[in-house]
Amino acid sequence: MSGNVTFTMIKPQAVADGKMGKIIDKIIEGGFKIKALKYTRLSKEQAMKFYAVHKERPFYGSLVDFMTSGPIVAAILEKDDAVAAYRKYIGSTNPADAEPGTIRALYATSLEKNAVHGSDSDDNAIIEGNFFFSEFERA
Ligand code: ATP
Ligand code: MG
Repeated sequence: MSGNVTFTMIKPQAVADGKMGKIIDKIIEGGFKIKALKYTRLSKEQAMKFYAVHKERPFYGSLVDFMTSGPIVAAILEKDDAVAAYRKYIGSTNPADAEPGTIRALYATSLEKNAVHGSDSDDNAIIEGNFFFSEFERA
């Protein structure tokens, strides 16, 4: 059975480009309910931990530098089949392959600077949500 929550981040490039409000609007328009929301900045240690699954990949160092380069927005989202629904809604990792109208097609500027993160499994959605939010920070 699929879960009903996912976790997202609006990445530093999209925040710096002034797209934070537009992306939050688009998330809500897509029928995702915001359960928790935070504007913050990742430390290097936090970014390394968040992306630890990629630590052997050649882009890991660059990704950590990018993700700590400015403020991000973190959110827990709720919808039926949230993980798959949100990954479809944001589009492919590489914006060149993202469906027109998806968040990455609209706001990404490169494969690395691809506007938003979306959890890739129900288990990771829970782990990532817990990484950023206490119970008190959820509505
Ligand atoms: P995310 O986890 O951010 O939602 P994703 O699940 O679509 O993205 P992953 O394979 O988990 O893609 O990669 C994590 C992030 O690492 C990507 O979103 C992108 O920012 C960056 N990335 C992935 N592949 C590359 C690459 N080949 N070169 C540079 N950056 C990359
Ligand atoms: Mg991923």
